[in-house]
Amino acid sequence: MTYDSQNIFAKILRGELPCKKVYEDDHALAFYDIDPQTPVHVLVIPKGAYVSFDDFSERASEAEIAGWIRAVGKVARDLGLPAPGYRVIANCGADAHQEVAHLHMHLFAGTDLGRMIKPREKREG
Ligand code: AMP
Repeated sequence: MTYDSQNIFAKILRGELPCKKVYEDDHALAFYDIDPQTPVHVLVIPKGAYVSFDDFSERASEAEIAGWIRAVGKVARDLGLPAPGYRVIANCGADAHQEVAHLHMHLFAGTDLGRMIKPREKREG
C-alpha cells in the first residue's frame, strides 16, 4: 500500500489538524484517541511516512524504529500504566480494520481489558 500524505495523522503531524498531545520527540507523536474505547486510549505514531508495522519495519531507519518503540514505552510509563496494566495494538490492513493508513500503536488502559483472545470454547473451528 502506498502512503497517502492526506491521511488524518499526516495532517496532525503537519499541524493542519489539532490533537490532544501526550508526548512528542524527534521520532514519535502521541495523542489521545478522538473516540476512546477505554478510559485511557492513546495513539503513538512515528513521524515518518509509514503505512503499517510491516512497512515501517522494512523501510524505517534503526533510529526511527528505536525512537518509536521507546516512545510507546515512555508514554505507558509516563501515564502510570505498567502497574495496573495496559494493551498495545497496531491494526494493519483490511482484516485488522485499519482505518487510518499511517502506522499507529493503540495504548488501551484504565479498566480490566479482558482476555485478548477468545476463550478456547468460543473459538470457531
Ligand atoms: P485504526 O482502526 O487502528 O486505524 O484506528 C484509528 C483510530 O484513529 C481510531 O481509534 C479513531 O478513533 C482514531 N482517530 C481518527 N481520527 C482521529 C483524530 N483526528 N484524532 C485522534 N484520533 C483519531
